[in-house]
Parts: sequence; C-alpha cells; structure tokens
Amino acid sequence: MTLTLNHMDKIRRSILENIPKDAEVTRIEFEGPAIAIYAKKPEILIEHGHIIADVVSFIKRRIVIRPDPDVRLPEEEVDKIIRSITPKDAGITNIFFDPSIGEVYIEAEKPGVVIGKDGVNIKKIVEQTKWKPLVLKTPAMKSDVLHYIRGTIYTESKERERILRTVGERVFRPPTYGAREVRITALGGFREVGRSAILVQTKESNILLDCGINPGTSRPADAFPRLDLPEFDLENLDAVIITHAHLDHCAFVPYLYKYGYDGPVYCSPPTAALMTLLQMDYLDVLARQGRPAPYDAKNIKECILHTIPIRYGVVTDITPDTRLTFHNAGHILGSAIVHLHIGEGYYNIVYTSDFKFGKSLLLEPSVCTFPRVETLIMECTYGAPEDVMPPRVQSEQTLISIINETLEKGGKVLIPVPAVGRAQEIMLVLDAYIGRGLLAEVPIFIEGMISEATAIHTAFADYLSSKIRDSILRQGVNPFKSEYFTVLKGYVDREEIAEGEPCIILATSGMLEGGPSIEYFRYLAPDERNAIIFVSYQIEGTLGSRVQKGLKEAQMLNEDGRIEIIKVNMRVETVSGFSGHSDRRQLLSYVKHITPKPERIIICHGERNKCIRIASHLARAYQVKAIAPENAETIRLR
Ligand code: ZN
Repeated sequence: MTLTLNHMDKIRRSILENIPKDAEVTRIEFEGPAIAIYAKKPEILIEHGHIIADVVSFIKRRIVIRPDPDVRLPEEEVDKIIRSITPKDAGITNIFFDPSIGEVYIEAEKPGVVIGKDGVNIKKIVEQTKWKPLVLKTPAMKSDVLHYIRGTIYTESKERERILRTVGERVFRPPTYGAREVRITALGGFREVGRSAILVQTKESNILLDCGINPGTSRPADAFPRLDLPEFDLENLDAVIITHAHLDHCAFVPYLYKYGYDGPVYCSPPTAALMTLLQMDYLDVLARQGRPAPYDAKNIKECILHTIPIRYGVVTDITPDTRLTFHNAGHILGSAIVHLHIGEGYYNIVYTSDFKFGKSLLLEPSVCTFPRVETLIMECTYGAPEDVMPPRVQSEQTLISIINETLEKGGKVLIPVPAVGRAQEIMLVLDAYIGRGLLAEVPIFIEGMISEATAIHTAFADYLSSKIRDSILRQGVNPFKSEYFTVLKGYVDREEIAEGEPCIILATSGMLEGGPSIEYFRYLAPDERNAIIFVSYQIEGTLGSRVQKGLKEAQMLNEDGRIEIIKVNMRVETVSGFSGHSDRRQLLSYVKHITPKPERIIICHGERNKCIRIASHLARAYQVKAIAPENAETIRLR
C-alpha cells in the first residue's frame, strides 16, 4: 500500500512542480486512464495548454483539467450564463451536464458561433461558471440510445466517479514484475465465426479483447466464450477492449458485470453507443423468442457506467505495462484495429478484428501502419481462395438490376441487414441510384432499429468517410434522411406492407435470426415474384445461411407460437461486394502492406478450413510464422 502511495505521490509531485501556482490546484486524482488535475482556476491551466502539453510529454501520461467541484456554479445558473454569453444565432438546442467530471455539453446548430473568435466565449464560460464546456453540433437525427446513455451517466454520476477512481488507481499501480512473458489464450472465435474473445496476459496484466456471442447457436457451450478456462480469472481482469459493436464481439460483456467485474470497457465513442443499442436488442430478441438471457438490462447499465470511450489515435495507459491505441478498421462505424504496446518496447500486438482493407461509401479503408508490430492477429471471414468479391461498382449494378427485375414483375424485395453498417451502406447505394434515375422510385421501408442506428451514424459523422462527413457536416445534406426512405416506427402492420404495392424492405436481423426480417420473410417467401437479397455474412446454422444455401421449406413460428411450414419460392440472391470484411485479395494485400512487417500471424474469425488454409498459405508465400489455433489454446508470444 505504501509502495502504491509513493508511486502516485511521485507522479503528483512532478505535476505540481511544473504547473502555474495561481491555478490553485486542489488535488490530483487518477481518473480512468488519465490523470485529472482539479483546480479552483481551471481557466489558467486551459489557457496555458502548452504547459500541460510539456508535463504530458515529461510524465508520459494523459492529463485532463477538471474544475474543482467546490467552485462550480449550480447547473441552472450555468445554463443561464451560457445562454447569455453565446450569441442568439448560435442556435443552442440543448445543454447537458456530466457532474462526475465537471463537463458541460453545449449542442448548437452553429458550434463555431458558440466557441467565438479564438475561443473567446469558451474562455468566458470557464471563467464565470467553472465548468468545462464542450461544444457539439446538433445532430440532424435524434438518438434515443445516446439520450439514455447520457441520462444514465448523469443520474449515476457518483457511481461513475467511483468507477473512474478505482480504474485510475489500478491503471497507475506500480508495476510488480514489469513487462514479461506475453501470452494469448483463444477463448472464442478461433476456427469459427462468432463469440470472439482473446485473453492477453503478461506477468503484470490481464486484458480481454472482445467478448461476443455466437448468434448461430443457442447451446451455451458453443454460444459463449470459454470463460471456464483456467487462464481466465474474472477477479484479476484489468480491462476489456471492444473492437466494434457487432454481437459476436460485444454481446457478452454485460455478463462479466453480472458476475462481479468492476473494471473498464474501452472502445471508440461510436462503439459505446452502438454496443448499448445492440445489447438491448439482443435481450429483446431473446425475450420475444422465449429464450433465457445470460444477463439483464441492469447489467447493460453497469456496462455503460464502466465504458471509457477513446478516440482513434489516442495512446492510453490501460495497465502498468500496456498501452492501447485504436485505429480505424473500416468495418462498421467506430470499428477499431487494436494496437497494444507492452512494456517500453518489449512487445507489440495488432489485432485487426473485423476489418476492411478497402474503401466503402460509408468508411475509409483500415489503417495498416503502426509504430511497431511483432504479432498480427487477423480475421479471415472471407479467406478462402474463392472468396474474391467483384468490384464495388459491379456489386451495385447487380443489386440494382435484381431489384428492378423484381419490381417490374410486381414483386417486393426483402434485404435482411444487420442494423449497423450494411443497412446504412445499402441506404446510401439506393439513394444514389434513385437520384440518378437508375432505380425505380418505390417506397423503401426502414424499420425502427435501423433508424436508431442511423441516428448514431449521424451523431458521429466525423467517423464516416470524408465524402459523407462533408456532406453531413459542411453541406448540411444528410443522405440518410433522403425523401425516398419511409421510416416505420411504433406498431407496424408488416402483413399489410407484404401484401401491398411493390416496395423495398430493409429489415433486421441480417441473418433472419429474430427481428422484423423474419416476419417479412414469412409473408414474402411463398410468392415467386418476390426476392430476398443477402448482402452480409451469414453465420453457419442461422436461418439466413440455410435459405442462402437453397432451403426449400422453412419451419417457422407463426403469431400463435405454432410451427408453420413456409415454402420458399421467392428468388434468393446473394450480392457479396458490400461486405464490411476484407475479401481474400484484401487480406493478402494487408499482410503485404502492413508496416512494419510482423514476425508472426495468428488467424482467427473464419470457418475452420478457411483459417487453416490461409495460415498455411501465408507461411509459404510470405515466409512468416502463421498459425490458426483452436479455441482453448494458449500461445506464448514472448
Ligand atoms: Zn463485425
């Protein structure tokens, strides 16, 4: 204990020696992965940003400035002061607070006007209110999930404060052993797609990369990661890192809280929001199917309170010997490639998780340059030699011509999509082709969950491709709000839509596992004029995968919960080029282009044979150590 205090005291002392005395620093706390300096005159520290920058480069830790809670004005007064300082034409739409860290968020139509020339208004706000203002652009679409997350953090601000302190003290504890012995254990998602989870251990740290479920099975032994293995010890877990919000990467995190985990979840800011949306939907789907849930809504709330969002490119201490940096993965909004720097140059791991090494309408291609990398852990969903996707334009044309043919026959088109990623990508494509007169103008129905995910895309527009970002933020044109889309909210009579005029329906889930897509499928499947078009990966065992492979009769539950046999007479098509994954060529190209070149490649997230075959191909063709371990295997990296 004394050792711990000495270590922290040393950090505190070197900060105090280097910052201006007149800022009246009251205390220095460890707050999550950063060091928080509390001051009675925070404006002095904020104004002298260069001094703080010097201290940061000296102690090599992230520092945040916090106004001392004793000097902060009450929230109602702050609200008034902000509105009086800011010019009317700034168009403030919302002011909300995070008391756990003393930040006030100002949402406005014109953020630049709120900030003022050279930040003059911001300075005034800090001086007069002693709150730290952050200015956001008013999102063009309202997100219920973001509202819920902010509300939760606000009402539980004391608990949030406790969590950040506890995490901080753990992150900055003095190292006992130093960086030694790096091992990884495959807990899930090896030689399979689903339940991704990798344990990274050093003498000092225990870190979990992803914690997902397998949506293709309901047998607990196969559906959830192998947390029963002796290597995994929940009590000693330092951190959970989530690469992106798909269920097979994040759906099992709340379960950890159910069993007493009190540590942080690190992910990008958009992932934090999307993860909550998808976890809630996961519980909804299970409840509707009458299946038992591994956790409940309370555990999702705990997950929210323990989540620490980190932007791409920000280097963050997460344990005494490990630093984490996220990089764009190009897979879905907020998806990240994880770079772990262990020890001072002792070892480096890059985990791609799901990634696309190519451009899509929605996102930029994944990052391939890192300061150092010894081991690359790479997915291979589309790793087989035959997994070569057609060029993007060709995929778009195929999609559009199948839709046009179907509509001409008087049929309806069902496109099952994951709510996050493919849905928005397909929306952009449909909007563009109608705009150019190449796609018949029929109603495009979009169900609630997709529109919520789309609102989150709009709120985090700075994570989208430069073209879409500019369109939303600069030109004020939001392609997701196109007049061609009909968003269905509340009660929806799906049977009426299925029996109505020709139309296009975008509905979740993408694999026909729960969600409205199943219901539409039930109504549309028997009529041969209709078409179903798969645009995303279908995990083995899901109804989507079986239909894709030519299933002629599907057993499904009807409204009364009885089993009904549905004849599949509709046209069944797959258009592959929209995937958020790298195809075979892009995977190989990534291995070729990643800098620096890794010594070892570990393959995961692919069907058994794909994993084994691409590993042996890489070993032969690229002269690297390449392996495709199985679940439950431990590999010593160093
Ligand atoms: Zn994914």
